[in-house]
Amino acid sequence: MIHDATEVKDKMKDELQIVTAFDNTVRIYAALTAGVVETARQLHDTWPTATAALGRILTATLIMGVMHDDLRRLTVRIAGDGPLGGIVAVSNRRGTVKGYVHNPQVNLDLNSLGKFDVGGAVGNGYLYVTKDIGLKEPYQGVVPLQSGEIGEDFAYYFMKSEQTPSAVALGVLVGPDGHVLTAGGLIIQMMPGAEEHTAVYIENQLTRMPPLTTLLEQGMTPLRLIRKVLGEDTPLKVLDGLDVRYECDCSKERFIGPLLTLEPNEIKEMIKTQGVVEVRCHFCNKLYHYEQHDLETGEGTHA
Ligand SMILES: [Zn+2]
Repeated sequence: MIHDATEVKDKMKDELQIVTAFDNTVRIYAALTAGVVETARQLHDTWPTATAALGRILTATLIMGVMHDDLRRLTVRIAGDGPLGGIVAVSNRRGTVKGYVHNPQVNLDLNSLGKFDVGGAVGNGYLYVTKDIGLKEPYQGVVPLQSGEIGEDFAYYFMKSEQTPSAVALGVLVGPDGHVLTAGGLIIQMMPGAEEHTAVYIENQLTRMPPLTTLLEQGMTPLRLIRKVLGEDTPLKVLDGLDVRYECDCSKERFIGPLLTLEPNEIKEMIKTQGVVEVRCHFCNKLYHYEQHDLETGEGTHA
């Protein structure tokens, strides 16, 4: 029986698996995010290089969002000076993510390795991480971008900001028509007490592995991916598995706060000239309309 890539993708549901091995000293996260990235592509009409960049960031943010049990909201912002402009992704412990790229219609020539030139499209800049864990002040971390290829940048962040040596592999495969064929990510972290020879073993395993997108395209599930990294004989313990998806939690009420920070005259002027104030959600492109009375009472009417 022959399966083409589209068929394989349709049959597989986006999911994320968390596994521990080597006496809890190694933690592995693997995610299939083809549906998440294709949803983002459709919402934002991203062109291939932008699809790859946003897809990698959505995948890494999604995985990072499940790393801490008490995390309410994780915001990752990439501020680069390349043609994509800024990129933002927001996730949580429940396995949902949303994001956008400032300039979605970017497509560059493939790089010298025949891959998407995500580094060229992102440029130089910084990776910002904000974690809301329910405390008064959110935790914030920032590191300079290493290559703009996203995987390396996240690995650098984990090492510098969280003192956790990590290997990060992120992949997005885009078909000739621009659709997402497959996408996913793999993050391996050395926890306190990890032995040097374990790190060397995993590094060797990773070096021998085909590219992530090749394995995903073959229909490999997150758990199979983890098995491949660890080796068939290495005992492992599954800590958690969850379905993941792209989801925006915006509402008409949510934008009233930011609108009220505008000058009252500015709002009056907008209502006078256009009749309503329009606000578009960056994450899902939903359009909300506000009339004068919405803003006076501070409550929105459901259009
Ligand atoms: Zn929205």
